[in-house]
Amino acid sequence: MKKLIFGIIGNPISHSLSPIIHNYWFKKYEINAQYNLFNIQEDEIKNTISKIKNKEIQGINVTLPYKKSVIPYLSKTINDAKDTHSVNTIFLDKEENLIGENTDVFGFQAGYLEALSDEAKKNKKALVIGAGGVAPSIILALNKSSINNVSLVNRTYEKSLFLKRKFENLQIIKWDNLSNEIENFDIVINATSLGLTGGENFNLKLPDIKKKLLYIDTIYNPAQTKMILNFKEKKIKTYNGLNMLIYQAQKSFYLWNKVNPEVDDILIDLLETNLQ
Ligand code: NAP
Repeated sequence: MKKLIFGIIGNPISHSLSPIIHNYWFKKYEINAQYNLFNIQEDEIKNTISKIKNKEIQGINVTLPYKKSVIPYLSKTINDAKDTHSVNTIFLDKEENLIGENTDVFGFQAGYLEALSDEAKKNKKALVIGAGGVAPSIILALNKSSINNVSLVNRTYEKSLFLKRKFENLQIIKWDNLSNEIENFDIVINATSLGLTGGENFNLKLPDIKKKLLYIDTIYNPAQTKMILNFKEKKIKTYNGLNMLIYQAQKSFYLWNKVNPEVDDILIDLLETNLQ
């Protein structure tokens, strides 16, 4: 049987760990398939997606900066993709429609929020730092997990207002007030690119923070951002972005192969080794 082809489109893309995850699962579940990196320009999106329609490619993930720009080339967006206007998984359904779904929402819920008891989620105040492509997925994940008291802070204020139109319950904080406001929150999520390997970093003094604060950094490269290290020093529970990456991949794999792959220790070791 012909080898099935999957992959991820984005630019830049060389840092992506998605091939490691999917190729590990293809081998484990004996599926004759391969997952590739497709580093494409914006004007190549249409042609790449048409390869799913003509079955040269069976499915693709989408990453920065194309999660929105793929939408006009699809038959429809469904579920979380429809609610966030952000697509990270594309496939052909039985009627041969090109479907866009968003598995980042599930990735965030399964990666961090499912472990919290209902009691731990009750009356919790969450702060999302960042209003870029991934922010609507995180806000939706929080809301779907019954964490409805959500605030947002972003360097560019207008982008926060744009998200407020989509999520009415969102409270907006000014960027300059971030240090002072952190102490009011139980869950803080970094959804900016501040802290990425080779990029800029937060220049933030951490004030008094709640002892039971949970800090989630969506970044997994480096595995420990400067913010994670700062919070760890204050004995705060922290997570990096690896869980989100793994669980969004799990749902994409299921959508494409109808196999729900296990997140096992070998996979985690493989990813951690690649991050060192
Ligand atoms: P994006 O659309 O490019 O948005 C970038 C965000 O970072 C914006 O809010 C931007 O603020 C902010 N930012 C960039 N430079 C800044 C600076 N110098 N000072 C203050 N704010 C700055 O990116 P994205 O797709 O939302 O991704 C954001 C982060 O999520 C990235 O670190 C990415 O690695 C991570 N992510 C992780 C996963 C995962 O599976 N773990 C999945 C998706 C994304 P402005 O609006 O002011 O420019």
